[in-house]
Amino acid sequence: MLNIDLHCHSTISDGVLSPAQLVERAALRGVETLALTDHDDIAGLVEARQAAETKSITFINGVEISVSWRGRTLHIVGLDIDPGYAPLVEGLTAVRAGRTQRAENIAAELAKSGIHGSLEGAYAYVGVRRLIGRTHFARFLVEQGYAKDVKSVFKRYLVKGKPGYAPHEWASLSDAVSWICGSGGHAVIAHPGRYDLGKNVLSDLLDEFCALGGSGLEVVTSSHTLEQAQRFAQHAKDRNLLASCGSDFHGPGESHFDLGQLPEFPPGCTPVWQHWKNTITAELAY
Ligand code: AMP
Ligand code: MN
Ligand code: MN
Ligand code: MN
Repeated sequence: MLNIDLHCHSTISDGVLSPAQLVERAALRGVETLALTDHDDIAGLVEARQAAETKSITFINGVEISVSWRGRTLHIVGLDIDPGYAPLVEGLTAVRAGRTQRAENIAAELAKSGIHGSLEGAYAYVGVRRLIGRTHFARFLVEQGYAKDVKSVFKRYLVKGKPGYAPHEWASLSDAVSWICGSGGHAVIAHPGRYDLGKNVLSDLLDEFCALGGSGLEVVTSSHTLEQAQRFAQHAKDRNLLASCGSDFHGPGESHFDLGQLPEFPPGCTPVWQHWKNTITAELAY
């Protein structure tokens, strides 16, 4: 079992636990190194870091940036970022700005299918209003009995071609990677198995991502089967990308792996934490 978790969410975005509660749960479940990676927002990092210090957890500043690339939405995780880096802070503010209008569009689309009151219903699940997202609508739809759980909602609603889908333009891949790398962090493609990319498109994405300075690929995640983890471990090796791991925990019962439950990497992966392990070792040497 890995005791490192580099992808999870708090109430700042679409998680159900506050940053401090999340750290507490991670500590109870044996996590020793944790990154908080809220969607498009870094407002939870200070609280999480303080909580991590009291639990002797090594805390890594993180974020998960929403990106539009060739008409698809991708997620890029930034690890070991500097939350004070102005282009990152300003870039995230701009990415977040569209969420309020998109939420209204989603509600209007759901209303066309006879589902009313979803905007207010979704807001009841939101921690920070500017971060309203599809998960909040999903929780409302579960509450109303449209599906048995959040995962099932996304099979029938809120995705392309289904009721409640509203297209949206997020950050560009090059902006997201440059905000992360410019702040001294490492950019990682989150849950690549979720995007359903054909061989050639995946190859283009990896080419472009590497050329922009991206350094990692999420290999172990709740979104991947064992076979996908093995496949993306191979892609990482082929491209000299580092392997990352994260539960993508949003709340108890909402993801395949809970905090502290991640299986080991497939053999031959170079983990992304060699970056900060090297820094720590170098500091100790002086
Ligand atoms: P948004 O950034 O508002 O478009 O919401 C994206 C979030 O919706 C993801 O981070 C997940 O939390 C959730 N989500 C998307 N697809 C699924 C899925 N198939 N199953 C469960 N949650 C999903
Ligand atoms: Mn989410
Ligand atoms: Mn994601
Ligand atoms: Mn996530």
